[in-house]
Amino acid sequence: MKILVQKFGGSSVADLECMKKVRGKVEGALAEGFKVVVVLSARSGQTNKLIEMAHQWSDEPDPAEYDALLATGEQESIALFAMLLRQAGIKARSILGYQVPILTDDSYNAARIISIEADYFRSELEKYDVIVMAGFQGVTADKRITTLGRGGSDTSAVAIAAALGSCDCHIYTDVDGVYTTDPRMVPEARLIPKIYYEEMLEMASMGAKVLQIRSVEFAKKFNVPVWVRSTFTNEPGTLVTQEEDDDMMELYMVSGIAFDKDQVRITLLGVPDRPGISAALFVPLAENDILVDMIVQKASRDGITDMTYTVSHRDLKRALAITEDVCAKIEGLGVEHDTKVAKVSVIGVGMRNHSGVAAQAFTALHNADINIIMISTSEIKISCLILEEHIETAVKTLHTTFALDKQETV
Ligand code: ADP
Ligand code: ASP
Ligand code: MG
Repeated sequence: MKILVQKFGGSSVADLECMKKVRGKVEGALAEGFKVVVVLSARSGQTNKLIEMAHQWSDEPDPAEYDALLATGEQESIALFAMLLRQAGIKARSILGYQVPILTDDSYNAARIISIEADYFRSELEKYDVIVMAGFQGVTADKRITTLGRGGSDTSAVAIAAALGSCDCHIYTDVDGVYTTDPRMVPEARLIPKIYYEEMLEMASMGAKVLQIRSVEFAKKFNVPVWVRSTFTNEPGTLVTQEEDDDMMELYMVSGIAFDKDQVRITLLGVPDRPGISAALFVPLAENDILVDMIVQKASRDGITDMTYTVSHRDLKRALAITEDVCAKIEGLGVEHDTKVAKVSVIGVGMRNHSGVAAQAFTALHNADINIIMISTSEIKISCLILEEHIETAVKTLHTTFALDKQETV
């Protein structure tokens, strides 16, 4: 049995007209002899509406009930789409996460997939030609509904393809593939025909929401070929794949620019520069599941230093409370924060073999009169925290500096 996983995002299933286009893509796969697992997101705007409702009903919604509510968005879209397929005479049925089951841990709102009963798909595909699967959701061992974090249907799709084994995964969205940066911000952005898992991982981690980070982690771990393409065109899109030794791509220093506006800077002021201070702050943050992104400690003067880090907006309140508590305990001078910051990142595996990328990026930002607040680097990435008001200029400047609008395709 030849199986293909096709995932369609919220804007692809927004209304009846869009769903008819999706049906066309599914029919295309059926015509090629595939049995199809279609993974759907909620119709666009639905998940946001449900989140808003949860916060109207409760100041701090119970996490398990919150997930039970959010998961209904996908239940709606899969039932509607399965109806549409059946209307066209296609043998199809919808399936929810718990019916498979897609087993997850109990980190509600950001649950991790533990296992997927792939044989259930195979047995249902004996009876049906298309399974319409709810993305974004799973179930705990205690039979509680979970969700996988925003954009989680990408992860559902790739994880199902991985569980099925030697199965391609096509992620359909509202752009033609992965671009050198968000094409909605920079119209000159260029489509990348092929990108490595590692680069895609950095792009996703640094804010390019075209694929959820965990979906790329899954793809890399299980070597699932992932195609990102548009529901609304017939372009081949972008192949996300593993690095090959003799590949031409390392010729290019930089493959893309990503940005993330979901950043808040928190600074613990005037802390003693002695062993144990970092641990005193970052251990309780970790214990409270707060994901810290960038960290910088200022050079110490007279044994006193400042510790600055960034978190996402949703963790601001809790991170501030913890930092203020730590500040009191270690007799720091105070805590300050800034919500109007954003991160811009330059990404490329070619950086491993080219020096000077950081210098070029800093010079470009300096020439654009943009101050860098924090810097963090990895082997294939340079990130700068800047004021949010400069983010568009920064992305465009860096995109031009590294000639991403001009590079020839591989
Ligand atoms: P879906 O609803 O299909 O899951 P998303 O909105 O999650 O779609 O992701 C697609 C969006 O990602 C695009 O509309 C685009 O604005 C944004 N995006 C950000 N960075 C990039 C990039 N480098 N390449 C392509 N799209 C990007
Ligand atoms: N519906 C969920 C969201 O809006 C999951 C997804 O779209 O992938 O985040
Ligand atoms: Mg998405």
